[in-house]
Amino acid sequence: MSLLNTFIFRTVPTIAVEWAGARRLGEILSESFAARRVMLVTDMGVRHAGLLDPVLASLDASGFAVTVFDQVVADPPEAIVHACAEKARAAGTELVVGLGGGSSLDIAKLCAVLMGSDQPLAEMYGIGKVTGGRLPLVLIPTTAGTGSEVTNISVITTGETTKMGVVSPQLYGDLALLDAELTLGLPVLHTAATGIDAMVHAIEAYTSKFKKNPLSDTLAREALRLLGGNLIAACQNGKDRAAREAMLLGAALAGQAFANSPVAAVHALAYPLGGHYHVPHGLSNALMLGPVLRYNMAAAAPLYAELSDVLLGPRPGRDEAVRSQEFVAEMERLMNESGAPRRLRDVGVTDNSLAMLASDAMKQMRLLVNNPVEVTEADALALYREAF
Ligand SMILES: [Zn+2]
Repeated sequence: MSLLNTFIFRTVPTIAVEWAGARRLGEILSESFAARRVMLVTDMGVRHAGLLDPVLASLDASGFAVTVFDQVVADPPEAIVHACAEKARAAGTELVVGLGGGSSLDIAKLCAVLMGSDQPLAEMYGIGKVTGGRLPLVLIPTTAGTGSEVTNISVITTGETTKMGVVSPQLYGDLALLDAELTLGLPVLHTAATGIDAMVHAIEAYTSKFKKNPLSDTLAREALRLLGGNLIAACQNGKDRAAREAMLLGAALAGQAFANSPVAAVHALAYPLGGHYHVPHGLSNALMLGPVLRYNMAAAAPLYAELSDVLLGPRPGRDEAVRSQEFVAEMERLMNESGAPRRLRDVGVTDNSLAMLASDAMKQMRLLVNNPVEVTEADALALYREAF
């Protein structure tokens, strides 16, 4: 008989899965919110892709007064958060909607929190540091990757290059709307990188050292099944509706998993690549995954063997060591077939910066403590060398 460890599982109260749901966002919001002054947080890529206009038309038809902040950039600095919150304040915003990739959703979350209290952003970094409430918050992803629509985390670039996380339950939105139609136009490399990032969320949640629990495990396994089974199809044919729907749902399930059982060394080593080289978040995770999987094998082999059964189906007669190796090989195969760049040198990282990256990765103790195997600065350097 095995006893359950104590655990707490939190997530968003409502997830709506609806093809083309964003086109009737006004109706959807009217069903749940009395607020009428909306701040819509997005980026120019979403606007140029033509995703914004139908949403604005729907909100207008339902009588919402909308202010748009479309200045979100990748690796968003604090200045973007402040600019967004100022604009929201000036507009008398009552409800915040995030529409976009992880950065837009992260900014929307912080905007809603900053509007809800007088606490300065600088005091919010870390785990459980947010003290006030927030405005009503709706999150609509346009990529199948970060899972930000269902997590309690926003990642901001502070100073020049350091990624800092705000992790607090107030950052869970009221509603996550999963409309896979929004992801149809994602270019193949973006589809590959964000999809692999979502798989990393599932894998790291499943092997997380302290907070892994039966609910996060269940979500991580189903996420990995959906993502692993549809990544290549979504990359090969971006218009494949079934694959897009599976990827978006899989990314959200992985987000729910890692919000409760945090990510670890892959993300800790990926963040400096974003900070210094602006390698997109998903791609930086894809580049570090292989080396970290092999490194973690020392402790995580039994769990990798379980995940190999999720990706490849049960294969009787194969022992744990073989199945764990097959899991790593399958992840390598998926990454190779996805078309994503495979080496740090392919994305502009230089040999002589690896020591600096390793030193920076040590700042991500919030994540590194969750890794199944301890990572020292020397280990981090070796992992960057392997990825180079
Ligand atoms: Zn990630």
